[in-house]
Amino acid sequence: MCQSSQIPISVEETPSFYGIDHYGFPRAGADDPLDPAGYYPPYFQSEHFQKYGYHVEELRGGFYWVTSAGYDAAFVVTEEGVVAIDAPPTLGENMLAAIEDVTDRPVTHVIYSHWHADHIGAASVFGPDVEIVAHRITKELLERFPDPKRPLPTRTFDDELVLEVGGVSLHLSYKGENHCPGNIFIYAPQQKVLTAVDIVSPGSVTFMHCDASQNITGWYEAQSQILEYDFDYFVGGHHMH
Ligand SMILES: [Zn+2]
Repeated sequence: MCQSSQIPISVEETPSFYGIDHYGFPRAGADDPLDPAGYYPPYFQSEHFQKYGYHVEELRGGFYWVTSAGYDAAFVVTEEGVVAIDAPPTLGENMLAAIEDVTDRPVTHVIYSHWHADHIGAASVFGPDVEIVAHRITKELLERFPDPKRPLPTRTFDDELVLEVGGVSLHLSYKGENHCPGNIFIYAPQQKVLTAVDIVSPGSVTFMHCDASQNITGWYEAQSQILEYDFDYFVGGHHMH
């Protein structure tokens, strides 16, 4: 499933992997065609985003989407604490800033969508006292390729896990390899929000790095699996609109 020759991805060694400029959007310049009207999402021109480089927005019922424009993460505010989903390095400390913008409750849980550094490479900002939930394969990969910025999961599962925290349910599901082994679906049924990272990217025809998927058949199937959920909001890890 995971070849021993698989190349590890570390935050320090591959800055260009997520070292995108212009917040991940194509460069606007003399040599480039003009961006079409409505190309940028509405928050992009906001004073807050231009000043701080992140945008946070409640989707529904305490479920928040947070973005650095190139990269998306999420968190859920519950009665007992905050459950964070991913921590991209492009957000870094801004992940904490976004949470502190809306609540003074502590982060108690962190969910890793998958093991890639560009989506969880800032997870150490949450400190050592959080429960980190991920698929078993994600933990195995992080054990094989240790990275202090991606602390090891403290709780894993194989097929399904319902995480209940402070009155909020999050249904975690693994349906097999797609973008990479261990990439999970995270569904919030009360809020009808689905998080599934690096499979489809809202605003683009397909996930722009679909060829980075390790299992192309699984990646195709994952798109149908997304549509099996009853969701009103989707967090895909990247977006263009
Ligand atoms: Zn990825």
